[in-house]
Amino acid sequence: MGPGIAIVGAGQAAASCAQELRRRGIDGSITIFGDEGYLPYQRPPLSKAFLKEAQPPTRLLLQPPQFFEQQRIDVRTSSRVASIDAAGHHLSTVDGTSFAWSALVLATGTRARVVAMPGHDLTGVFTLRGLTDVERLRTGIAAAKRVVIMGGGFIGLEVAAVARGLGCDVTVIEAEDRLLKRVTSPVMSAFFERLHRGHGVAFGLGARAAEIVGNKGRAVAVRLQDGQEIAADVVLMALGAEPNTELASAAGLDVANGIVVDDAGQTSAKNVYACGDCARFKSRRFSTAIRLESVQNAIDQAKAVAASIAGAPQAYDPIPWFWSDQYDVKLQIAGLSTGYDEVTVDGDDASTSFAVEYRRQGRLIAVDSVNSGRAHMLARRRIEAETK
Ligand code: FAD
Repeated sequence: MGPGIAIVGAGQAAASCAQELRRRGIDGSITIFGDEGYLPYQRPPLSKAFLKEAQPPTRLLLQPPQFFEQQRIDVRTSSRVASIDAAGHHLSTVDGTSFAWSALVLATGTRARVVAMPGHDLTGVFTLRGLTDVERLRTGIAAAKRVVIMGGGFIGLEVAAVARGLGCDVTVIEAEDRLLKRVTSPVMSAFFERLHRGHGVAFGLGARAAEIVGNKGRAVAVRLQDGQEIAADVVLMALGAEPNTELASAAGLDVANGIVVDDAGQTSAKNVYACGDCARFKSRRFSTAIRLESVQNAIDQAKAVAASIAGAPQAYDPIPWFWSDQYDVKLQIAGLSTGYDEVTVDGDDASTSFAVEYRRQGRLIAVDSVNSGRAHMLARRRIEAETK
């Protein structure tokens, strides 16, 4: 048998791609190279239930070990890929193994952004991306009285909710003038600010951290650019994510804030594909190039890549969807609101169940639903119809 299919990264997209390849009857070898020491697992609980309460990591696994054995999917959980040779159809791992492939899938995900400000490497400063991070952060929060979170995006706010639930004083520092500015409207930002303030979270909006102040190697405060100091036992940098594109760049593939792929998941190199958080593709539906960081995209784009490898390419142009849980509020986002020119509120945004609709040139492009699964499901169908 000739060389099989290699998948770099052992996350949500890798698992979905391998599973779909088998479902489509691909019989050759499939090898997944991961570097976290775990079988593919789900990340969303890391900033929610799994942060609140310690649970065995096996609870997060997407599939049990037997599944991969039965499917003859070889998952090498501690085998970081050091380089790929796109023309020569080879990859090398950091421990010196050379591996030949017939098709290569890059599913390398993203990493938490670290801003190298003074004090970023002190004890008590955390980022949150993987299982190792969450174990450390949970221990840190359990011993903390005061938690300062840099970044008022989804991960920052979800952690704020958990830390408040555990009795910590929480301050969120956000450089923009409102929360979640990159992804939602002022109405929704105001809703989440009220929600968190109602639970006792303090905010520094339009505030930039200049330094993490230490004492004997431990973080004790965050100093803002205006000189103000906020005392902290734990500091979380929740400043967004950066795509892991280094392997692709070094191999000469097109990279532009993500590994550039076409709508079949094909990179600029033949037989090399990319999917999930690390990939950037053109959405005809939304007339823009996008790189999505969501479970929906990791699963569905990986399936599209598997279809391409199986010789049945299909155009991937999804209605993106995403969710966030904070306290007893579930936000569900359908579509992509970028470039909206009209916002309407369906229901009462002073209540805890309503929706916000976004239109561009009269067409519905996105809906944010608060505690309304029905509105969300309907929205996905309505956006599908209006963005064809
Ligand atoms: P990943 O899951 O990041 O997997 C990539 C893997 O590749 C990683 O294990 C990485 O270590 C490995 N890797 C990288 N380079 C190499 C290499 N050279 N060799 C070997 N392995 C390598 N999405 C939602 O839709 N809803 C949510 O509520 C939500 N909450 C989230 C909360 C948190 C705290 C985080 C971190 C993410 C959350 N997400 C959520 C996003 C979602 O988890 C991601 O979109 C999804 O995991 C992307 O899957 P992926 O396979 O593309 O990347």
